[in-house]
Amino acid sequence: SQNIIPEQAQSTGEKYPKSLMVNGVELPVITQVSGDAADVDKPRLVILGSGWAATSILKELEPNSYYTVVVSPQNYFLFTPLLPEAASGTVEARSLLESIRKICRRSRSHYCEGEAHDVHLEHKMVEIVGLDGKHFLLPYDKLVISVGAQNNTFGVPGVKENTHFLKTIQDARTLRYKLMNLFEAAALPTKTDEERRQLLSFVIAGGGPTGVEYAAGTYDLIHYFPDLLEKYVSVTIIQSADHILNTFSEAISVFAEKKMQNQNINVITNARVTAVEKEKIVYKKKGVAKGEKDTFEIPFGLCVWSTGVGMRDFTKRLNDKIEMQNNKRALEVDSRLRLKGAEGIYAVGDCATIENPKMIDIVIRRFEKLGAQRLNYEEFCAVIREILAEYPQSRVHLSKMRQLFDDYDVDRSAYLELEEIQKMLKDINNKLTSLPATAQVAAQQGAYLGKKLSSLSLQAPSAWAVTESTFKPFAYRHFGSFSYVGGDNAVVDMGDGWSGGGVGVYFLWRGAYLSKQVSFRTRALLAFDWVKGMVFGRDITRS
Ligand code: FAD
Repeated sequence: SQNIIPEQAQSTGEKYPKSLMVNGVELPVITQVSGDAADVDKPRLVILGSGWAATSILKELEPNSYYTVVVSPQNYFLFTPLLPEAASGTVEARSLLESIRKICRRSRSHYCEGEAHDVHLEHKMVEIVGLDGKHFLLPYDKLVISVGAQNNTFGVPGVKENTHFLKTIQDARTLRYKLMNLFEAAALPTKTDEERRQLLSFVIAGGGPTGVEYAAGTYDLIHYFPDLLEKYVSVTIIQSADHILNTFSEAISVFAEKKMQNQNINVITNARVTAVEKEKIVYKKKGVAKGEKDTFEIPFGLCVWSTGVGMRDFTKRLNDKIEMQNNKRALEVDSRLRLKGAEGIYAVGDCATIENPKMIDIVIRRFEKLGAQRLNYEEFCAVIREILAEYPQSRVHLSKMRQLFDDYDVDRSAYLELEEIQKMLKDINNKLTSLPATAQVAAQQGAYLGKKLSSLSLQAPSAWAVTESTFKPFAYRHFGSFSYVGGDNAVVDMGDGWSGGGVGVYFLWRGAYLSKQVSFRTRALLAFDWVKGMVFGRDITRS
């Protein structure tokens, strides 16, 4: 940034100045966070974040290969897939956390609690705001941005003020507390029936795995309050697409919806939330005949917002200063996860998207090759599947294709001219090329990068660029997606056409999550919580 004035830095003849002027303020340059002074001469690796992608890098990183500093505002790794369980009381919040300092120890990395504020590209320094609010600069030779994403409100008024998110451990604790509070308040003898119904109305905006799991977990809990359950409790999911769990196969979406209905969870599809007020949510139904009512309201005691993610402020700041970056959703990286338009920087996980402009051309060319044929939805998906098998680094979401047909109001059994399909495809370039924002993608990208960085560390930095271009590109392998749907049932979609649901899948789901734990400690805590729940039931104290 032009606001840094290097002339004012105190040059000591060492590799880095002691300080630099940034936006008129002199900031210290910190070269040693902790550890031996001898280590600081190694190439410097700075990793921003302590989530799925970052911990996966640390797992693969050769110890002592760099002077590695991890910066994150959370001094722990959080096992996000079980947040809905923590929020509804099936597992303890602490069982989902592992200390980042412990994880750092393996690769002899150094942890520093703070938030990345900005990257000063020309000086290869990251500006950090420490836990105490003080700014300082960390120099890097390699910088990994793995800061995740933040909740997206899509500009809907009242979301920030009147709903709860489920993204952090604090969110899970707040939700659990609020849930218990509502039940106890509704059980008071002074409450009217109407007040009870409002207090015990739980609305979840977003029918993805998080929304569905939270709804299912909440409903399971409600059975501990049999007096209130029948007469007053309602759980509602509002989903903008035509099905919940729309990243899963259609059969699974339908299975999950049936399960929800059997449990009296109200699923409203094809609906867009337009506003959230203090105690009611307003939504508009799509495709309602002219003259019919299309706007509805639901009063609630608790509303959870889980509709998708967007860029963090830090990511936006960096995105704005790099000319080659022009994706509004995430930082664009090449197939080797290098940030486009910057040197020595990588972006992984939810904050990144793999640039793959050729994908749209490949798809269109393939359709052109089919000549003047017309395709219906099934045939269209078959072509996409074929392309997917050939290009494993890309993942075209078949569910997005489904949504595409719906967005265009196209009957899925109808035949379309290729020209029409091409027009639709051009519109959804981003949807065609981006990997889903999941822990699975983040962990695989982190593992790829950890291995690559370890191998680069064996060479002189001057050889890095050449070696890197010979490194094989990142390829994503999908190992299946799970979702809990309530009543000890879960669903799984392996992505290769195999999907299923039921109690067996529920135990498979628990087994998969146990195996994905970052430490033996969290694995043991989690197993203990589940056994405790089976023996004594859930903890319904409000603490
Ligand atoms: P994160 O894991 O979010 O980590 C980001 C890290 O960056 C955090 O440590 C954060 O503190 C830190 N950070 C933030 N800002 C800064 C900054 N300015 N400077 C430095 N550090 C910063 N995915 C699945 O595959 N399966 C599931 O079942 C599943 N369930 C989910 C359930 C819930 C409730 C949620 C919220 C997500 C779920 N996901 C699931 C998605 C998954 O959690 C994310 O895709 C994954 O966490 C992305 O990993 P990441 O490393 O990119 O980001």
